[in-house]
Amino acid sequence: METYQHPDARGYYGQFGGAYIPEMLHRNVEELAARYTEIMEDESFRKEFDALLKDYVGRPTPLFRAERLSAETGATVFLKREDLCHTGAHKINNTIGQILLAGRLGKKRIIAETGAGQHGVATATVCALKGLECIVYMGEKDIERQAPNVARMKMLGATVIPAVSGSKTLKDATNEAIRDWINNPSDTHYVIGSVVGPHPYPDMVARFQQVISYETKQQLKEITGNELPTHVIACVGGGSNAAGAFYHFLDEPSVQLVAVEAAGHGVHSGMSAATTQLGKTGILHGSKSLLMQTEDGQVIEPHSISAGLDYPGIGPLHAHLFSTGRGTFLNATDEEALAAGFHLAKTEGIIPALESAHALAALNKLELTPADTVVVCLSGRGDKDLATYMHAMNQ
Ligand SMILES: *Cc1c(COP(=O)(O)O)cnc(C)c1O
Repeated sequence: METYQHPDARGYYGQFGGAYIPEMLHRNVEELAARYTEIMEDESFRKEFDALLKDYVGRPTPLFRAERLSAETGATVFLKREDLCHTGAHKINNTIGQILLAGRLGKKRIIAETGAGQHGVATATVCALKGLECIVYMGEKDIERQAPNVARMKMLGATVIPAVSGSKTLKDATNEAIRDWINNPSDTHYVIGSVVGPHPYPDMVARFQQVISYETKQQLKEITGNELPTHVIACVGGGSNAAGAFYHFLDEPSVQLVAVEAAGHGVHSGMSAATTQLGKTGILHGSKSLLMQTEDGQVIEPHSISAGLDYPGIGPLHAHLFSTGRGTFLNATDEEALAAGFHLAKTEGIIPALESAHALAALNKLELTPADTVVVCLSGRGDKDLATYMHAMNQ
């Protein structure tokens, strides 16, 4: 049977994926590709991973029936509460997985890149737990903009190294992390924070995040008697929370998979991150996917009010879901996301991350009926976005 769940042996989902990396990284990436499935399927690995997800992260996260939101929407709406994970978002599912895996590979030093600092904090957290050295590369501009997360990483014992080249943001931090890995191939693991990067990262990260839809299926069955929803909605930056929320429904054609990208000031405003609407096939950070680029292939700086969606590409799984039509790709502007965030706070008493607010905004864009059961992946909590919400309130 054709499946959307796994890439082929070379890491391709249809025409997207693969491993486009400098010669100097071949050994590291190939070691990972050769061993990740065997390690992840190993009984002792599974035990340790599952125990940490349960006792440290707080899984399973609730599947909450949002009654007031349902009444307004005219369908049954469930929220998958990844915002209740330790450190406030789904990212820690992946960092725990990769850091345990790094241990099995004998790596003692962990590096990561971070934009807004969420992935950096999740990585620093698990390194503290495991007593590992942690180095986080972060654009100099992002260090200024995201002071609370920089403080968290330092308190957790990580070293934060500023990337001072280019636009001094996420893509420059990524370049620095790659340079570090090239220089320290034998003792270092590079933890990538989404379903992007060279094979096997997209598949590996999706497998660490699949727990989201695994739990959703069981919880839906328990609550409604039917394990399949009609719709699953998730926001897409690189696409890891969406990959996790979709995973066990990818090969269930009755389930509509709705991915929501950040439209920023508007898809055609020149200030957006709506990759599938604006992007063309190209190579970014080691894989072939859709990305926003100029005629001569220069990456276009994205814009979104939410730092986690402010990325010029998407993972190859999502490019494949888009190009085959298996996924429905919508987008929400900064303004629509803010409105959806304020609305959830007032109707359900939950302040969502601005990223997750984009997924919520899509509820108004679908034609839903009372027969529909909709799961929205609430990828994170909004504490980190309070300043942005307050700024919007005072306008
Ligand atoms: C990082 C982040 C995202 C975007 O990343 P994906 O890999 O697309 O999931 C979404 N929501 C929150 C809360 C985040 O921290």
